[in-house]
Amino acid sequence: MTFRTRFAPSPSGHLHLGHAFSAWTAWEAAQAAEGEFILRIEDIDTTRCKREFEQSIFEDLIWLGLDWPEPVRRQSEHFADYDSALERLKALGVVYRCFKTRREILEDIARAPHGMGEVYRGPSEPISPAEESERVEQGEAFAWRLSLDHCRDHLGAAYTAMRFVDTERGEQAADPEALGDVVLARKDVGTSYHIAVVHDDALQAITHVIRGEDLRDVTPLHVLLQTLLGLPVPTYTHHRLLLDDTGKRFAKRDKAATLKDMRERGLSAPDLLQGFR
Ligand code: GLU
Repeated sequence: MTFRTRFAPSPSGHLHLGHAFSAWTAWEAAQAAEGEFILRIEDIDTTRCKREFEQSIFEDLIWLGLDWPEPVRRQSEHFADYDSALERLKALGVVYRCFKTRREILEDIARAPHGMGEVYRGPSEPISPAEESERVEQGEAFAWRLSLDHCRDHLGAAYTAMRFVDTERGEQAADPEALGDVVLARKDVGTSYHIAVVHDDALQAITHVIRGEDLRDVTPLHVLLQTLLGLPVPTYTHHRLLLDDTGKRFAKRDKAATLKDMRERGLSAPDLLQGFR
């Protein structure tokens, strides 16, 4: 069996212990399976992502003793790929323009029938094509949202049949209902993490996605996008998250927990990794 996994950090800050654990978990799994480990830079958020952080990611991972094939894919160089994935979703009729402000969305959520009100589930009345073109012409901001109603119509029985394998839990139904109508792109940023990650996992032939359990909830959405776009569904592992002394997840702002800081303080990477085993 081929086994190819990846570590896909966003260079919006320095890597911390939590990232080291994630990268190492994926790398170890690849070693154990005699498979491949790939590094991908997820920098579609060009305002928050910085080359300086990217450089420090490479240095941190080399310090940890990991290696990966070159060249490393940098998502900011491939916006056209993600645009075409979005175009395919538009052609399927499963996305819609949403002009609502954040506040309007929150009001709609609050008004939703009891039990439906945690996430946005689409407009009660779609706006007319005439109004839509007028608002686009006037340059109004909008987001492209995935319509779960339209996905259900488009996929029919395949919608409820969606499955994925979670290595700890076994085969799971991929039910994206809990997420509602998710934003897939904005007028100014023509893509999102969801489109870019699903596109690249398929392009890079990732067979095993290994990532933190904070992303467990979005996996059903990713399986839905894979199903719509005709992409293979990898196997998923959602590993535990490392916690700091106070029981909180490490964050990019905790300077002392950054790998850069540890490197500079002369800490040893093997000792650090020993703690993960
Ligand atoms: N780029 C994402 C992050 O920094 C990880 C994406 C993934 O592993 O699917 O959290």
